Amino acid sequence: MTKKPISRKKFLKNSALLLGSATSLSSCISETTNNSNSDIYTNKKYTWKMVTTWPPNFPILGEGANLFADWVNEMSGGRLQIKVFGGGELVPPLEAFDAVSNGAVEMGSGAAYYWAGLSPAFQFFATVPFGMNNQQLNAWMLEGDGMKLYRELYSKYNLVPYLAGNTGVQMGGWFNKEINTLEDFKGLKMRMPGLGGKVLNKVGASAVLVSGSELYTSLERGVIDATEWISPFHDYAMGFHKIAKYYYSPGWHEPGTGLELFANKRALEKLPTDLQAIIECASHKLNLWIVSNIEGKNRIYLQKMKEEKEVEFRLFSDEILSVLKEKTKEVLEEITESDPFSAKVYANYSSFQNEISAWSNLSEKVYYNSLT
Ligand code: CA
Repeated sequence: MTKKPISRKKFLKNSALLLGSATSLSSCISETTNNSNSDIYTNKKYTWKMVTTWPPNFPILGEGANLFADWVNEMSGGRLQIKVFGGGELVPPLEAFDAVSNGAVEMGSGAAYYWAGLSPAFQFFATVPFGMNNQQLNAWMLEGDGMKLYRELYSKYNLVPYLAGNTGVQMGGWFNKEINTLEDFKGLKMRMPGLGGKVLNKVGASAVLVSGSELYTSLERGVIDATEWISPFHDYAMGFHKIAKYYYSPGWHEPGTGLELFANKRALEKLPTDLQAIIECASHKLNLWIVSNIEGKNRIYLQKMKEEKEVEFRLFSDEILSVLKEKTKEVLEEITESDPFSAKVYANYSSFQNEISAWSNLSEKVYYNSLT
């Protein structure tokens, strides 16, 4: 029996598929640090420790760190084993960066904006108010200059960072009064960390820092008037719908927070190149896994909250959002003007966002509007 000749159309399709996979594989490998002392074909085993900023086994984020270690173990045939420690198990959560930077452990997991005290530039690799969403951040990182700048920044701290997850667009927070005009922000004590907090202060609110474990009681006892957290899945577990009247959208302050892994540069360079490539590829898998899980679970928990009717959903008005956006620009200019590297990252980020928004506004925005 003769084989049916393959059609030109099918051939082109198959070639394109092959090219697609070959390209992604080679880009995975080329992004890793090269080393000359490659022992790919030996069975030498490496044991690493990873410290995370999340509570142990924290839903999705901590679970993702554990899964990452499992994937690396599987892909390397057991040659690279990573033991994961939740925040506080080995070092306090926010000391993860230093612990990996100084080589006490080989790897860490967190979000770049936790390190903003070192340089404002870090925040652009996690999120900034009115910044890029998950898809746009991925595009900046992987097609634009994002990853290059990200690695340039971390190399100053003897680290190699990996984009490894995203929260998707967050919610705007939990309130006990309606926010109809900017006046309603005056005197409002709201838990909002980072740049969002700085923006709130500019409209007369008072942004406060409260740790996750104290949030529920602070809101319940009126120590704070409002709080943001993440989105329906994680917020439901915190029980805010039991004690707050209104749940606002959108999370203008965190439109798609990028999460990360980071490795000690010297430890990474000691690994054979295939294990380095495995870390890179597993981080891409985690990047997709985390956002897919959060988005998928948000659909269930949004529905639950709507059915249970314990909270009312509200949208911030266009007027409020437009003033918050203006204030964000002021904040971003203020924090980057005194640091040349931050200014360079801000300029690159903003120009990419402007360009890609022109496309997103013509594609996704129009499409979403067509569905409502
Ligand atoms: Ca948040």
